[in-house]
Amino acid sequence: MSGTTPDRDHSGPIPVGATTSGPDASAPIPVGATHGTGTPPTEALHGAGGPAITPPASTATAGSTASATSTASATDVLRAAEDGTAFDADHPPSADLVSDCVHCGFCLTTCPTYVLWGEEMDSPRGRIHLIGQGLSGEPLSDSMVGHFDNCLGCMACVTACPSGVRYDRLIEDTRAQVERRHRRGARDRALRAAIFALFPYPRRLRLLRGPLRAYRMIGLKRLVERTGLLQRLAPTLATLDSLAPPLRSVPRPPARVRARGERRAVVGMLTGCVQSAFFPDVNAATVRILAAEGCEVLIPPSQGCCGALSVHNGRRAEAQRFARRLIDTFERTGMDYFVVNAAGCGSSLKEYGDLLADDPAWAAKAAAFTAKVRDLSELLVELGPVARRHPLPMSVAYHDACHLGHAQGVRAQPRALLRGIPDLEVRPIAEAEICCGSAGVWNVLNPEPATELGDRKAHAVLATSAELLVTANPGCLMQVAAGVRRQGGTIALAHTAHVLDASIRNLGPDALLS
Ligand code: SF4
Ligand code: SF4
Repeated sequence: MSGTTPDRDHSGPIPVGATTSGPDASAPIPVGATHGTGTPPTEALHGAGGPAITPPASTATAGSTASATSTASATDVLRAAEDGTAFDADHPPSADLVSDCVHCGFCLTTCPTYVLWGEEMDSPRGRIHLIGQGLSGEPLSDSMVGHFDNCLGCMACVTACPSGVRYDRLIEDTRAQVERRHRRGARDRALRAAIFALFPYPRRLRLLRGPLRAYRMIGLKRLVERTGLLQRLAPTLATLDSLAPPLRSVPRPPARVRARGERRAVVGMLTGCVQSAFFPDVNAATVRILAAEGCEVLIPPSQGCCGALSVHNGRRAEAQRFARRLIDTFERTGMDYFVVNAAGCGSSLKEYGDLLADDPAWAAKAAAFTAKVRDLSELLVELGPVARRHPLPMSVAYHDACHLGHAQGVRAQPRALLRGIPDLEVRPIAEAEICCGSAGVWNVLNPEPATELGDRKAHAVLATSAELLVTANPGCLMQVAAGVRRQGGTIALAHTAHVLDASIRNLGPDALLS
């Protein structure tokens, strides 16, 4: 969010490959590098000629060093709940997980906010340290919340950590505490209220398609882009404007689609919110592939949001409501698998067991549901191909969506599927582990740094000289497309499902490049 982002000049070009100018990643957090209430992170940690970890005097005696925080106990947590400090006793972040961090710094250079700003407290290690301070009784200050809000939730640090620190659990529990216990500024509250009244509701999102079409047809979009006025007056709206994809009209899929040939599995399918409103062609391609691979596909039109956006932003009660409704919609369909083609949704669906673990009426159902969840690429590799792949003589760059690669560990399967297509060349993208800056609604809440990350990713993608960028998340597609446009580059974009569908239907490269 612009209000909490470290205040510095980000306007210069970002060379791809320049990972960080920050402090020695292997150095431990110095004693006294604490988070003082209300102390801007730039003052605390940034020095001339590159960031130097030099805490201001006001924070040096805050009394919570990394080693001290790692000993925070359950008693500390309960005490915090009583005296109004950072966390209460309702699912506080785990002190044991905090203590797993040995401060080695291997995660730093994969963290997008650390790469951008070189701030210790905007690194995974720094955030874990802040969580430890909260567990030791420090209050939840605006500054501390700013560092948590700055986290994209990309989970690159989880992949990088040699000690197996569950940062994903820590930040999820922390965000839930922040949402319940911290009062944000009026502007932030209004923006978040608008986002969560819109994005998790596919019908409301679909209603935007008409006005968006009109906005483009009458030339208003071109005018707004040329003047740069929107960017200056309302960067959040400008970000939304730049992200909106081309709108294709595709009929909604029927509630049930039969398998072609022998039936091998019955598969429930999530149509998603952004996916169904702005990328209905991805859903249509997914249904065709599944049917061609012998799956009967169940797509109840009454399904709603999976709750991914809510849970990733600390709105746990809302996420639980969405989860119960989705389980209810699908649990009596007799499906063998539940397939997802949006990485962010898949990662939260695989956590339903944890999300509803405390609810006796739903815990077992949620665990059973989670066991059936598969990313599209996982399911197709698991089943093995039966549909013939036709050649696609072209080059593609495959981008790992963070919530597929880092959060779900699904990297090999999409590549295996692409490599199974004759004549298709798959090219790697530099800095593959760094997030593109989409991260759910992070790019809407934090337009400036998200633009920097998007430009950085677009630069790396264009450097592959591939004809097509392939990824498995609608947010990444919109984010990278906007970055490529800003750089004046051109590359076609497609979901993995588009590519497989084009190969199975023998459509040739033009179907993907036009
Ligand atoms: S989840 Fe991503 S942004 Fe957050 S601390 Fe980890 S690497 Fe950094
Ligand atoms: S989170 Fe892992 S990689 Fe990062 S500093 Fe802690 S132990 Fe090291």
